[in-house]
Amino acid sequence: MKVSWAGILGMVLILPAMAVPAAAQGQLDEKIDSNINDWVGTYKYLHEHPELSTEEKETSALVASQLKKMGYQVTDHFGQYANGAPAYGVVAVMANGAGPTLYVRTDMDALPVTENTGLAYASKVREKRPNGEVGVMHACGHDLHMTVLLGTAKMMAESKDAWSGTLVLIGQPAEEVIGGAEAMLRAGLYAKFPKPDYVIALHDSSVLPAGTVGWHAGPMLAGADSVDITIRGYGGHGAMPYITKDPIVIGSELVMALQTIVSRESDPQLPTVVTVGSFHAGTKHNIIPDEAHLQLTVRTMTPEQREKVLTAIKRITNGIAEAAGIPAERAPIIEVAKDSVPATINDPALTQRVATSLVKALGKDNVWPGQPIMASEDFSLFALENPKPPISMFWLGATDPQKWKEAQEKGTRLPGPHSSEFAPLPEPAIRTGVKAMTTAATDLLHK
Ligand SMILES: [Zn+2]
Ligand SMILES: [Zn+2]
Repeated sequence: MKVSWAGILGMVLILPAMAVPAAAQGQLDEKIDSNINDWVGTYKYLHEHPELSTEEKETSALVASQLKKMGYQVTDHFGQYANGAPAYGVVAVMANGAGPTLYVRTDMDALPVTENTGLAYASKVREKRPNGEVGVMHACGHDLHMTVLLGTAKMMAESKDAWSGTLVLIGQPAEEVIGGAEAMLRAGLYAKFPKPDYVIALHDSSVLPAGTVGWHAGPMLAGADSVDITIRGYGGHGAMPYITKDPIVIGSELVMALQTIVSRESDPQLPTVVTVGSFHAGTKHNIIPDEAHLQLTVRTMTPEQREKVLTAIKRITNGIAEAAGIPAERAPIIEVAKDSVPATINDPALTQRVATSLVKALGKDNVWPGQPIMASEDFSLFALENPKPPISMFWLGATDPQKWKEAQEKGTRLPGPHSSEFAPLPEPAIRTGVKAMTTAATDLLHK
């Protein structure tokens, strides 16, 4: 993530909430005060007991049982992966009269990262892998997301006279491997439960201090595609290249030519990444192989840009092979993986409404412009299934404000999501998240 908040430095750090709140906001503050210790406890428990993607059995049971206690109608173990395996999705419904249906989503999975935060509640969980043991850690902050969802659930359940409509809370498994959202949608999420009018979520951010949130309308997270390219030449003796068609030379030219998609074909205002992450060919010094294999990751922010970049990859790959004299029957094989994930595009109108709620909840000084990033999320999929509801995700500041300030002033490193040292500051982040999400949900389900 790029840190480009320097310009806003100095304007903040009066934390966390400094709005002039309406009476309802004052009540919400009091309720949050009386629950915050419990929530920090829940957060630390979840942090200490992480489960990897698709294995969220205990985590989802905890989320489901807490939501049941609050009076939600809960379905657990909801979802089915592409291979037919069941998923640990949680769907909790609270019907509260006429009005729209709002979905609020959290993810629940952890990462194969060995924790190195030194925190008293650090994860000591290890999983056996074929090539040794790996640590398991909530290194992306999904424990924070779950805690905020549970806090929001409680606040909403205790203020049913303040809103009208249907609230659906989603505990989504397997976000990190991009499979959980699809698993729940495949199992008929929008058909078996009330159809959504809006879907909202938050994700923690290390570039924002705890106590703040960030929002951005339009593309927020990139779409990701994996592309596999097989260059097919004609192998032979390394000493006689003239009777071969060398796929390594063709592949090398291709790696360089692909860079021009970003530098010469893309609008510089449209963030785009084309990375060749793997290039494998050959077995020995003096053998020209028959094939070379390249693996690419492509990141784009809009469906049009995605289509343009994928088309350019095909055109350049085929063109370079043809220029090298590869006949049509040995043309490169270009495969775009089916598990691609589209960009997360925040619906402008919904995002504007959520942003208004964020300002109401936290005061405008604690609501910042949120930078889009080139990471990807399967939250995007909730927008693409019929009835294709508008979606919006905002950033929840997670970094200790003191450390954040030092980083701005002295350039010290701030560990971010997926780092073994990522350590959100629980209390202000949970408080801010619950306040922001409860206010947004209440406003979207206004009477
Ligand atoms: Zn992540
Ligand atoms: Zn995440």
